Formats: sequence, C-alpha cells, structure tokens
Amino acid sequence: MLKASDHIKSIKPYVPGKPIEELERELGISDSIKLASNENPLGPSPLAIKALYNSVNDLNRYPDGNCYHLRQVLSEKLQVQPEEIVFGNGSNEIIELAVRTFLCPGDEALMAHPSFVVYSTIVQAVQGNNIVVPLKNWRHDLQKMASKVTKKTKIVFIANPNNPTGTINTKAELNTFMKRIPKKILVIVDEAYYEYVASSDYADSMKYFREGRNILILRTFSKIYGLAGLRIGYGIAGAEIIDAMNRIRQPFNVNSLAQRAAVAALKDEKHLEKTKLTNEKGKEYLYKELEALKITYIPTEANFIYILLKDMTSVEIYNSLLGKGVIIRPMGENTIRVTIGLPKENRKFIKALQEAVWTL
Ligand SMILES: *Cc1c(COP(=O)(O)O)cnc(C)c1O
Repeated sequence: MLKASDHIKSIKPYVPGKPIEELERELGISDSIKLASNENPLGPSPLAIKALYNSVNDLNRYPDGNCYHLRQVLSEKLQVQPEEIVFGNGSNEIIELAVRTFLCPGDEALMAHPSFVVYSTIVQAVQGNNIVVPLKNWRHDLQKMASKVTKKTKIVFIANPNNPTGTINTKAELNTFMKRIPKKILVIVDEAYYEYVASSDYADSMKYFREGRNILILRTFSKIYGLAGLRIGYGIAGAEIIDAMNRIRQPFNVNSLAQRAAVAALKDEKHLEKTKLTNEKGKEYLYKELEALKITYIPTEANFIYILLKDMTSVEIYNSLLGKGVIIRPMGENTIRVTIGLPKENRKFIKALQEAVWTL
C-alpha cells in the first residue's frame, strides 16, 4: 500500500462552506441560501460578466502566463511596479507559493488562532512548524506574536481583517509590530476583505512595502469583486520576493477568463460602492436583530459576523439552520460565522435563528 507521509496524514482536511446545490440534493428542498463563504451576494460586476461572454471564443488558447493587461491596470491603480505583483489561482495559491518559496522543513511560521486555516495547512505540508498565538479580544495579539520570534521564524501571517472574527489591527499596532520584527522575516498581510474596511484606524500595510520591508500583501477578486468561482487573487511585494515565487509558479496558473473578468471588475467602482452599501445596511440590520435576540457578536469590518453562542453548540445551530435551508459556517465549539447577505437572505437567516433559539 502506498502511504502518505506522517506530516501529510496529520493535516486536518479543509472543510469548505457547503454548496447550495449539495444541501438541496441531500434534503430535497429548494430556495436555500448560503451565508457560509463570504461571497458577494450581489454577484460580480455586470462589466465582468460581459467581458466573460466576450472571452469564451478564445478558450482554445493558453492564457497569458504573465497576466499582462491585468498587471498594467493593477500596477497603475496601486501605484506599484508591474514586477511587484504576483497573480494566483485565488490568493490561496499565493499563500502556498510564499510558503513553498521561503519556508524550509523545520522553519517556523507564526500565526494567530482562530484565523484563516489555510496558513497552517500549507506550512504543515512543507514540514514547517506552526507557532500559534491566540487572539486577544478577538484580534491578532501582535505584541505576543512578536515575542514568539526565534532564529527559525521565517514567516508571520496576519489576516487583516481577520477571518473568522472580522476584526482589524490598527496603524499603531502594526507599526509597533514592524519595529519589533527582524527585517529578514517575511510578513504576510492577508487583506482579502480590504475593500470593506471602513475604519480610519485600519493598518496601512503598503507603507511598509514602500519602505522596502519584507512584506507580502495579499488581495483577492473572490470577495468584494464577487469572482470567487473564477479563482484569482494577487500579492504585492518587492520585485525580488515576487521573482523568487515566480520560479515555482505554474506557468498558466491564472486562467484567461479570470484575467479578463478581473480587468473589467476593477473598472466598476459603482458596483463596489453598491456592494459596500448593501453590506453596511445588512450589518446594521443583523446587529439590531442579534441584539434583540440577546445574542453576542463581534463587531465586524468585513462582510461577515462572528457570533458567540451561549446555550447551544455551533453544530446544533448549524444543523438546525441547514434544515431550514440556511447554510452558515460553524467555527469553534460555540461560535458561528455568518456572511452578510441580501436583505431577504438576512431576514431568512434571522427567522431561522429565532426558531432555532426557541426550540433548542
Ligand atoms: C477568502 C479568503 C482568502 C482568499 O481566497 P481566494 O479565493 O483564494 O482568493 C484569503 N484569505 C482570507 C483570510 C480569506 O477569508
């Protein structure tokens, strides 16, 4: 029998949000909603959809492995050099590229818990060691993380906003952290929800990039841009960091449809504003209803809310809501994460939650 190595077998499988189609097939129900993967409930920009229709005739051709047009548009928008951007099959792929490029077996990667689980999975896959620091008041405890640096530390992960809590680290916190952290360590700031953040105190990671620090900033088209199904994200870093990652990147890692849709999506400021407004209104509604139900939540800077349950486990609530056609994400023992949806989705979620609270 072929056996996988122990460090592979000990990896906990990633559990994605349940697809709507799967739930409906299993329960024989319809009109289900998914508030489990922080997707944009409005869908992608109409400009992106149009660009996709116009691209299908070229599908016999390999994509442009350099993402030339997207790179031009983005470098202009971000005011960075074209060679300071790397594109990935989702920003997940860039996490993997960075770890495989910069972490050797036995090296340490620092990260918070709970945070995005993909970090630890990939570190484990290359036989690195995960050094995990619990959140403090649901936020990254950057001081504590800085104190855990050793000679073996190669990478630090900071999800800002954090998933699953929706919390941010401030300018002052990141500043103190960057002063303490040795310059040769790669700091990966994962900003998958960057565009949603309203706080003026939100840490400015680009500042450290411009100062020439070893920082890799991750953004994605999966969240506010509504293109999760196409798989495209990007990283911003110094040209040497990008060049190293490009050496192991698959030559055609980003498909042609994704490249075209991303270019079009970047032009649609109106769709972004509409999405933010929908999210803000949904957030206010959910806060109000959760308070009425006396359910504790963590105020969010993103498009999802982390909810702390008292008398129910997350699995009980999850299963109860599934039965009512509402897919959310159970996180820890007593916590769930809910994506902010369209008004009618939010109402359906609250109604199902009320019923669950009353009956469980
Ligand atoms: C959703 C998410 C991502 C990105 O996902 P891709 O679809 O691979 O771009 C990255 N980091 C965090 C924290 C996320 O929540």
